[in-house]
Amino acid sequence: MAAFDLTDLGLFVLLLAIYIYLIATLNNITTLYKSYLFFHFSMMLWPLANFLTHVTGNVELQWFFVLAGFYALASLSFGWLMFSLVLTRQFQGFHRISTYMWALPALIGIILMTTNPWHLLFAQPVDGQWVVRTYGPFFWVFIASSMFYVFASIVYILRATERTAEKGLRRQLQLCLLGLVLVVFFSILDLLINVVFYPAFGVVPGLTSLGIFLSAICFVIAIQRYDLFNIITIARQEVVDSMLTAMIVVDNNDVVLDLNDSAAKYIRLRAGKAVDIKGSMVRYASCGSGNSLDCLSIIPGNRGHGGRIIIKEERESDIVVNISPVLDSRRKCLGRVVTFNDVTHLRSLIEEVKEKNAILHRQNGELLSVQKELSEVNKKLSDMAITDDLTGCYNKRFLFEYLVNEINVARRYKKSFTLMVLDLDEFKKINDTYGHLAGDEVLREVAKLIKENLRQSDIISRFGGEEFIVYCPMCGRSQGLSLAQKIGDMIRMHPFWAGGCCLHVTTSIGLVCYSPEDGGKGPAEELLDSLLKRADNALYRAKDLGRDQIIMAGWNAGLPLGF
Ligand code: GH3
Ligand code: MG
Ligand code: MG
Repeated sequence: MAAFDLTDLGLFVLLLAIYIYLIATLNNITTLYKSYLFFHFSMMLWPLANFLTHVTGNVELQWFFVLAGFYALASLSFGWLMFSLVLTRQFQGFHRISTYMWALPALIGIILMTTNPWHLLFAQPVDGQWVVRTYGPFFWVFIASSMFYVFASIVYILRATERTAEKGLRRQLQLCLLGLVLVVFFSILDLLINVVFYPAFGVVPGLTSLGIFLSAICFVIAIQRYDLFNIITIARQEVVDSMLTAMIVVDNNDVVLDLNDSAAKYIRLRAGKAVDIKGSMVRYASCGSGNSLDCLSIIPGNRGHGGRIIIKEERESDIVVNISPVLDSRRKCLGRVVTFNDVTHLRSLIEEVKEKNAILHRQNGELLSVQKELSEVNKKLSDMAITDDLTGCYNKRFLFEYLVNEINVARRYKKSFTLMVLDLDEFKKINDTYGHLAGDEVLREVAKLIKENLRQSDIISRFGGEEFIVYCPMCGRSQGLSLAQKIGDMIRMHPFWAGGCCLHVTTSIGLVCYSPEDGGKGPAEELLDSLLKRADNALYRAKDLGRDQIIMAGWNAGLPLGF
């Protein structure tokens, strides 16, 4: 009796110590880790319940602890299976009915234990003590269901171990498998010694508890040495599970080793099943969603082994499939990773951006042509503001502004310039004889002739009617006079045609020359006024002298400058 108590108590204390150790040493508590702690906790209950059953003398309390022990065993069996499913990545989640279906045998076992119909059918005390008891048929039903759980777990882990290529993960699974085998072994031993052949070998205490303890040791080693709960490994797995890119890992025989949640969108399959990837895609596309599959192109992948298949479906969704080999350190191919990326949204965004770009490009072109038109109109407007329509010469306003500035420059740098006023002779007659339009043509022709004889720095302006003013910078008296003579000769000798007749046109020119010695301190406008007056007077003298004359103010007339 005392041996019973101490063994179970001792094993319970050891399991508790491991439990505390796990909590103390692992600081990254993940969901998987939490589930293991819960599972480990239920493992501790069996030896504790056994211990308490033997400690108490109260029969009712004994029955309570016996029940508690078997409840713990029922939840442990179910827990083993769930944990194995999580471990092998085949756990479907608590939202699936299948998860609860798995719990059914354990639940039936608990109901049978609790109701204990006719005592005989589950257990009944010997000499009124539950410490020693016999078991009825329902007990064996319970044992069968527990074994079913453990064997199912073993099968899952065994299959996962076989198809896992990664060494570390394989070791982890092997250790967990060992833990399961140990539990089964010690539980069966317990059954045989303490139930089936009792009392042939006497009572051997704590055998199942020992199995549980040894399996816990296996788990702790798996956790500690192979990082079962390693935060980085788990985090990576979480990332893979939660990413939108669907990922399937297959071995060289096209057996699916792993797949993430998004993969379900593209292929309906489970880990452990062989798969024809392309065939599955076609099946999925043509049957699953009623769309046809059209492989547009296959482009070799970066590593030379994979390929990229662009799938276009009727519903206009584009999926890019990448297939890359998984190579070991010796570059031996272990399998392949297949990823599916739905790029429909991305493509539609690109199309949208392209369209917007085209619109912007068009609008930009339109704006540029409007801008060009505007600048042409602006140029025309500014030209019109300073030129004369008929002859294209500068107008009077521009000439005045220009000359005021030029006078200031000439005074500042002591430069000479010449101004000449030209008036066509008897122009009225031309108008009267040949018409106003013919007169206009003569005016245009005269302006053209004058321009052709000027330097680039010279300026010609139509002063009004048939009167022109020519400004020649850096031009002294003799230069001015010879230019005037040249212009006069040119006009005189030029044949002007009007109404089929050749016209003879002459001009009178009044000249004034400004030289630095003339000085003049007043405002430039005043000097300009006086210069134009003198040129005008010279012009009048030319007219008076019989027209077609050139008169230089204050010089060839022998007049003083102030004339
Ligand atoms: P002169 O100068 O030799 O004394 O005689 P004129 O006949 O040229 O006399 P005046 O300069 O006074 O007359 C100018 C004439 O020029 C009067 C007008 O009919 C003519 N005229 C003025 N502006 C224009 C114009 O834009 N076009 C045309 N066709 N004729 C114009
Ligand atoms: Mg005139
Ligand atoms: Mg005239």
